[in-house]
Amino acid sequence: MRPHVDRCAPDLPRVARITDTWEENYRTRTFVLDLRMEARPGQFVMVWLPGVEERPLSLISGDPVSFTVARVGPFTTALHRLQAGDRVWVRGPYGNGFQIRGEHLLCVAGGYGVAPMLFVAREALATGRRVTAVIGARTAEDLLFTQRFAELGCPVITTTDDGSAGMRGLATDGIRHVLERKPVDEVYACGPHPMLEAILQLCQAERLPCQLSWENRMRCAMGICGTCELDGWLVCREGPVQRWTPEEKS
Ligand SMILES: Cc1cc2nc3c(=O)[nH]c(=O)nc-3n(C[C@H](O)[C@H](O)[C@H](O)COP(=O)(O)OP(=O)(O)OC[C@H]3O[C@@H](n4cnc5c(N)ncnc54)[C@H](O)[C@@H]3O)c2cc1C
Repeated sequence: MRPHVDRCAPDLPRVARITDTWEENYRTRTFVLDLRMEARPGQFVMVWLPGVEERPLSLISGDPVSFTVARVGPFTTALHRLQAGDRVWVRGPYGNGFQIRGEHLLCVAGGYGVAPMLFVAREALATGRRVTAVIGARTAEDLLFTQRFAELGCPVITTTDDGSAGMRGLATDGIRHVLERKPVDEVYACGPHPMLEAILQLCQAERLPCQLSWENRMRCAMGICGTCELDGWLVCREGPVQRWTPEEKS
């Protein structure tokens, strides 16, 4: 059965049922809902569990709505306990999302940042572009989605801090590995802040445009409360994606 189409105002939470959920690795699960919404890669939804909390999660897809969640605290632990048939409340989509540009995209992901990158890759490939993926993690067991990118037909470079899978090193080492071999038009990335800061520096040095998705603590997601402010920038309204181009002063 097709998931029902979302026709409500995006700021009102809508109830949805989990239709499928599975383990991705020892602390990460994917959830698929019986809901669809028009969403761009890089946008996120606010997911509410009554009596627990409401938290932002990036979309892997808007049709059906699906997301991948790492268990880090009370909300994500409660979400991991849910099974197919259980209900969640969802509002959104929020945020600016990525702009798909150029012929050859380099998608770089750290941790659960692979979720929006998979959405970027699918959209880019659907419009005839080429995508290479760099997926970084601390160890082999933290790696996510390498198979799913490979199934899309993307070359995948994996890096681990301890060398237990792929190249030993950081995601930026994986980026350098790609840049030495083929030209890239734009870099897309989502992951921890230190990774994004290193990628920004690398792209500025290489004069290569990049789009980086920044996360921060968030409450209203509508630009009202200011909780997610980062250096004077509202992540929920003006972000989470920030684009840098060589034309800008660096
Ligand atoms: C735009 C956006 C998209 C996101 N997409 C995803 C996603 O696709 N999958 C996913 O697993 N998580 C995602 N997150 C993060 C997710 O919202 C948090 O992991 C979640 O809020 C943790 O809630 P909790 O109650 O389980 O843990 P908490 O007790 O709230 O936090 C546990 C630990 O995580 C840290 N933390 C919590 N939220 C953040 C944050 N936003 N940035 C950095 N550190 C944080 C806390 O400081 C603490 O150390 C996203 C966040 C944002 C802002």
